[in-house]
Amino acid sequence: MEASTTAAWILGDYMAHPKIFGGSDLAETWASVQPLPRGNPDLFDAWTCLFKAHGRAKLAYEALKTRPKIFICDYPSYGLSGKETISDSRQCGGCSSVVYCSKDCQRQDWAEQHSNECAQARDFHRERRGTDTWYEHELRASHAALLEVVYAEKRHLGYDARDTLPVFNFTPVDALEKRSRAETYPDQEQCWNGSFGQTYLKDRLWTVVTTFRSGSVPAGWRLVQGIFPPLGKDQSIELLVLLKPVGAGYRTAYCMARYRMRFTPIVTFLLATLSYTTAAPSPVSSKKCDLKAKGPDLDAKKAFDKYVPGEYVEHNPFGLSGRDNALAYLTGFLVSPGLTITNLTAYAGGGFGHMRFREILPGEFDRVVSDRLKFQGTCFVEHWDVSQDVTGEETNPLAWF
Ligand SMILES: [Zn+2]
Ligand SMILES: [Zn+2]
Repeated sequence: MEASTTAAWILGDYMAHPKIFGGSDLAETWASVQPLPRGNPDLFDAWTCLFKAHGRAKLAYEALKTRPKIFICDYPSYGLSGKETISDSRQCGGCSSVVYCSKDCQRQDWAEQHSNECAQARDFHRERRGTDTWYEHELRASHAALLEVVYAEKRHLGYDARDTLPVFNFTPVDALEKRSRAETYPDQEQCWNGSFGQTYLKDRLWTVVTTFRSGSVPAGWRLVQGIFPPLGKDQSIELLVLLKPVGAGYRTAYCMARYRMRFTPIVTFLLATLSYTTAAPSPVSSKKCDLKAKGPDLDAKKAFDKYVPGEYVEHNPFGLSGRDNALAYLTGFLVSPGLTITNLTAYAGGGFGHMRFREILPGEFDRVVSDRLKFQGTCFVEHWDVSQDVTGEETNPLAWF
């Protein structure tokens, strides 16, 4: 891909910030130069996506100008009641991670939920501030406004079934057209797989989901999710927004955000839990491994007990060494709703094992992974991996490792 095209895609990621691009006049400029990249289909595609994204950001920005500085209230019952958020916000002094429209909402939320969250939220906020990756309330409000625009535009395209959750992916810039989807609702545990760190938000999220699904909000309301560009390199924001119809469009009744880590697979090899036996010669000294275990086994804990009972050295740059770290990651990863693993091949010899497979999580990734493992006896003690995206547009017909 040419540098100019790549730059257009990268720039496109930031179109999801109405406060950055919505107020600009770039659309006019771009409209006038639009014919220029026509001779280059890749660049033309990238630019077309940019125009669209900018148009939506502009609409969201215009809508934001008519509202209070921060128009969200983190007390769920307030938004669920259908009342407009009209006053400026009060922020929790303990953690700075929730805002309210009134002292009353703050007091109520403290009694019902936030007193159980505040200490952990404070630590999380501090850590994010320290690394400049804190998701500001104003940015959250901007993203919620953008989801209002996008849902109003796309609700006719199969996203309006009340028993599914529309997920709009804003990153990269063309994902909104290509990879947005309507998902079936995950259950409470699936809602919180290992990609999400803020477990203290679990009850809050589940309250909103169950309230919506119970049918106690008016029929025209919709729960939607947006995936926004990462703050920092390896994470994205998942923003859940409850929308209510207002006039010809939608307004945010409630929203909450979570950080999602975008790891590459660390120990996905355990999915297949080794239907082969090792050629490694030496028996493991003090550790017991089940030599007869065969076949797929999706229970990560069980697999680790059998195959990773002791030392575990991780070489994946996104993971940490140690059995517990790998297990914690994998336990969450394996319950990602919609995850499929295919095309598995594996062999072992000379003290090492190798696996190759394709893994797909719709809207998130489609990639081929290659794992290399070191055996000690019949146990794993060391791991390396690399992955390659499957785009469907590979130049090489023999791509994918
Ligand atoms: Zn309120
Ligand atoms: Zn707090």
